[in-house]
Amino acid sequence: MNAPPGTALAASCARCHDCGLLVQVPRGAAHGARCPRCGAELHERKPRSLERTWALVIAAAICYVPANVLPVMAVTSLGQTEADTIMSGVIYFLTHGDWPLAVIIFTASVFVPMMKLAILTFLLISVHRRSSWRPVDRTRLYRLTEMIGRWSMVDIYVVTIMVALVRLGNLATIEAGWGAVFFGAVVVITILAAESFDPRLIWDHCEARSA
Ligand SMILES: [Zn+2]
Repeated sequence: MNAPPGTALAASCARCHDCGLLVQVPRGAAHGARCPRCGAELHERKPRSLERTWALVIAAAICYVPANVLPVMAVTSLGQTEADTIMSGVIYFLTHGDWPLAVIIFTASVFVPMMKLAILTFLLISVHRRSSWRPVDRTRLYRLTEMIGRWSMVDIYVVTIMVALVRLGNLATIEAGWGAVFFGAVVVITILAAESFDPRLIWDHCEARSA
């Protein structure tokens, strides 16, 4: 592993993930070493960060298809069942003059997950190519995906609002469809993908190159 100057890695140190203690470890021997204070396993970088993030990004991208194609809910009213996908819901609100709700659903459910996957894929490719392109901006992009992750539950609120609106409108029974299951999977898996990516990898190549 390259050792950029001025980092814990260059000083043969690893920071404990659990208690934050900076521990001196011989170069390359961090694997299997343990924190003398809390006993946690020490890693110079998140272990297998790229492989794990790739796997999760691909899994989320696969789930993204049924999340958008399958109905997220089925409404039965007066004996008639109507199944709605996310996009048909958006179109419904758009054609019924409820465009702010249509914009919220489209942004939270279609645009944001797609952007998160696109940004993570871009970051992964840039690290693989040992890119030195704008590390500060790439780190900002990473922080953005991490921050959006915390707000992903907005999607669940949207579904709740839709259910409430339908319930207020008429006597109907509502069932969640398989689309909602895949949709929840996309939300959770993208949060895990952002979590497993180690943004220090962006800087390792940049500083190793300029050194
Ligand atoms: Zn520790």
